[in-house]
Amino acid sequence: FDWSKSDDLRGYAPICPPFEDFYTRRIYHRIQDCFARPIASAPDAWIDVVERYSNDNNKTLHRSSTASRCLNLGSYNYLGFAAGDEYCTPRVIESLKKYAPTACSARADAGTTRLHVELEELIARFVGKPAAITFGMGYVTNSSIIPVLVGEGGLIISDSFNHNSIVSGARASGATVHVFRHNSPSHLEEVLREQIVKGRQPGTHRPWRKILVIVEGIYSMEGEFCKLPEIVAICKKYKAYIYLDEAHSIGAVGKSGRGVCELLGVDPADIDIMMGTFTKSFGSCGGYIAASEEIIRYLKHACPAHLYATSMSPAAVQQVISAIKVVLGEDGSNRGAKKLAQIREGSNYFRSELKKMGFVVLGDNDSPVMAIMLYNLAKLPAFSRACLRQNVAVVTVGYPATPVLLARARICISASHTREDLNKGLKVISEVGGLVGAKCLPAEPEKT
Ligand code: PMP
Repeated sequence: FDWSKSDDLRGYAPICPPFEDFYTRRIYHRIQDCFARPIASAPDAWIDVVERYSNDNNKTLHRSSTASRCLNLGSYNYLGFAAGDEYCTPRVIESLKKYAPTACSARADAGTTRLHVELEELIARFVGKPAAITFGMGYVTNSSIIPVLVGEGGLIISDSFNHNSIVSGARASGATVHVFRHNSPSHLEEVLREQIVKGRQPGTHRPWRKILVIVEGIYSMEGEFCKLPEIVAICKKYKAYIYLDEAHSIGAVGKSGRGVCELLGVDPADIDIMMGTFTKSFGSCGGYIAASEEIIRYLKHACPAHLYATSMSPAAVQQVISAIKVVLGEDGSNRGAKKLAQIREGSNYFRSELKKMGFVVLGDNDSPVMAIMLYNLAKLPAFSRACLRQNVAVVTVGYPATPVLLARARICISASHTREDLNKGLKVISEVGGLVGAKCLPAEPEKT
């Protein structure tokens, strides 16, 4: 939807995805209650969802609405740190008292607290790179770092399912951008080869100033892991840099929570730029880049989001430091290891039960993200509303976040879901899936 090219959008613009025709807009008006529904509690295993909700900016209605307690299968609170953790929360409260919610300054000015420095050392150690830099937002990390790394004369090759923040950064960079088929190392190699031959200029030995291949650890609409070992081998062969977005995988997967490198046996030294966010497994906000000392030093001088944007909130920084310490067992307990086992077991249980019921489920084993395919866009509101009526909150996604005919419900499992919670979710999803005709495969017979 292009605001800049439209005449008069009052009443439509804030809520309508990129549909210009009148009828599609009207459909979206009718299903808008399924999106951006206000919540009234922390994003824990259970969440208070506002019942009566109007998207027409009727603030009185928002205020007078009551909320109902729902099983939360939609938030990215993978390790359960986002709501009242016994180790993190007291420390966050202390840091709030000491530092205030914001440093009121950019990192390069007066916005660097001791906590920021501590977090950067900790995250570098955690992911296995020499240095790191943090930003106030994960989205901004991608969209502002990519243009600083590659510019005109450079080539970006991006997975076709990469997140919008990566797409924004790639477009803003001025580099030539090509997309390879989602998670297809052979197509990546084809594109690389073609571009290296095509880009060769007479008299130059290098066709592009720099080649950057961008992938994600877990693809957030599918729950699939990146085919990282194969992609790393191709990048080495063609001397391309590799940029790995671990927004959904850092903290959540790998034996000690160190993400897809640990899970898939890739040496972090083979990943040039490791990006991640603090909004998922660590229950906070902000993003990071971990890389060589040289790259991080360069970013500190060149990246506008470091130089001109207010730094991460100190309380948010403290939350991440505390959460990583729990994951590493440095809080003196084994809660981190337990959380990692819980999320793995819960995710695998939920996925296999859904498959047994006859749903088409996307996502790899061990991934906390899974998609229940609904296909037809019209099934989204029916699925979302019927689940909510039975106190289960799910996120449904359709075009433009997915291809038009691949609408889905996206489930995120958290370590804070008990087996009882998961069984409640499965029971409701099974009933609702039957009602809307989402069980596309024959149910697996019970094993005796
Ligand atoms: N990268 C990916 C792959 C994401 O899924 C997201 C958001 N979900 C982001 C970056 C942006 O991160 P944040 O929401 O922390 O700003």
